[in-house]
Amino acid sequence: MTINGGISFWYATHPTAPATPPRAPLTAHATADVVIVGGGYTGLWTAYYLKKSAPDLRVTVLEQKFCGYGASGRNGGWLYNGIAGRDRYAALHGHEAALRLQRAMNDTVTEVVDTAAAEGIDADIRRGGVLEVARTPAQLTRLKAFHAAELSFGESDRVLLDATATRARIDIAGAVGSSWTPHGARIHPLKLVTGLAAACERLGVVIHESTPVTQIGPGRAVTPYGTVRAPHVLRCTEGFTAALKGQKRSWLPMNSSMIVTAPLPASVWETLNWSDGATLGDMAHAYMYAQRTADDRIAIGGRGVPYRFGSRAAAAENTGRTEPATVTALTDLLTSFFPALAGTEITHAWSGVLGVPRDWCATVTLDRATGLGWAGGYVGSGVATANLAGRTLRDLVLGETTDLTALPWVGHRVRRWEPEPFRWLGVHALYAAYREADRREATTHRPTTTPLATLANRITGRH
Ligand SMILES: Cc1cc2nc3c(=O)[nH]c(=O)nc-3n(C[C@H](O)[C@H](O)[C@H](O)COP(=O)(O)OP(=O)(O)OC[C@H]3O[C@@H](n4cnc5c(N)ncnc54)[C@H](O)[C@@H]3O)c2cc1C
Repeated sequence: MTINGGISFWYATHPTAPATPPRAPLTAHATADVVIVGGGYTGLWTAYYLKKSAPDLRVTVLEQKFCGYGASGRNGGWLYNGIAGRDRYAALHGHEAALRLQRAMNDTVTEVVDTAAAEGIDADIRRGGVLEVARTPAQLTRLKAFHAAELSFGESDRVLLDATATRARIDIAGAVGSSWTPHGARIHPLKLVTGLAAACERLGVVIHESTPVTQIGPGRAVTPYGTVRAPHVLRCTEGFTAALKGQKRSWLPMNSSMIVTAPLPASVWETLNWSDGATLGDMAHAYMYAQRTADDRIAIGGRGVPYRFGSRAAAAENTGRTEPATVTALTDLLTSFFPALAGTEITHAWSGVLGVPRDWCATVTLDRATGLGWAGGYVGSGVATANLAGRTLRDLVLGETTDLTALPWVGHRVRRWEPEPFRWLGVHALYAAYREADRREATTHRPTTTPLATLANRITGRH
């Protein structure tokens, strides 16, 4: 039987999280030097680096449920060097600026791995890189273009693999080629959050859980239990941002769904060749992502109901329950990649919500006049990016001009999403177009991207 919802597989099977009561909520008005709204990677990394650099700073984190309740406790566990918007930043600020951003992302993978080790955070981290696979001629054309683009952004250690070499790494049915980068690691997402929250507390960060912030304004974060006043107020709420007053059309809350198999026996792993800890993705328009978990399951995510009318996915009550049709679609996807897994038990299914800006570009910003800051809009690439955001917010709050504050994603402003029903229609049309484009590419075997997908990307501002 599949456990559907329950936050995530990572939460449900975590050794301590489900039985641990939330940290004490805020009970009265308070003051701080920095108040951070949101206890995911972005909020916690920011708190961590602020306290590391300025131990006397009073840093308070306010989390509506518990640390890791959001995407940080539900994701696919790809710690990798991708950042949403790099190519647009290259167009806006020049290749060299985007190259610096890419290098910073490469370094970020190492930073997270090293910091986790230094803080004694055991997040099942295994540095096996990322394998992106093509399974149709059109995907192969996109893969080669993607590979060339990554090389042009300084990834000289990335390798292009033919069908045989791909299947020697992971035996994926129908693989015609792949691109592998060493800049990635498999992680247990929730273990990283819980370890990070504990590291923050060791440094003296105050974390209040079960404390929803109802309003953010210059100098204050308002909750039902009191207001925290601070010169700096940082919004680190990503996919939940649309639920905050005045933010409904900022970042679109996009769902992503996952399933996980029961632990697979050694004999299956031998036939799959999947031994090096690489995370796995593909070049479909409605792309998938997967990892081999530390306890020998496959966790795979992707297609689902992308968006709920009126940005409803941003609502606080989100147990991760997933449409049965999505569970079936992901199970079919799993067996299309690995036919030997037909009939394998799917133990958990869940969903989470991520933030998508209108131009699909991640940002980090501090408005000096108001002291308000925020970071997010990572689309599906926030595990590593949130760490870079945390270090950058630290520098911005401390008023330091550094290599990080000079990166092109700092201070980027983006227009808001359209009002409903255009928002709903646009996103559903986009994903319908992607599904149809994937279907056409798989059946026609043409080596070019279906114009439908190109058009959809242009209309939605994705590329
Ligand atoms: C299913 C799924 C798979 C993904 N896979 C990957 C992957 O493999 N690799 C990758 O790089 N990225 C992935 N992502 C994206 C990545 O997980 C996110 O970008 C990242 O976790 C964002 O971290 P965050 O701290 O900014 O946001 P979150 O983790 O969402 O944290 C925000 C926190 O703010 C709290 N909050 C919100 N509103 C309020 C409020 N009003 N008051 C108080 N607290 C509030 C929430 O409860 C939440 O805990 C995935 C996302 C999903 C959903």
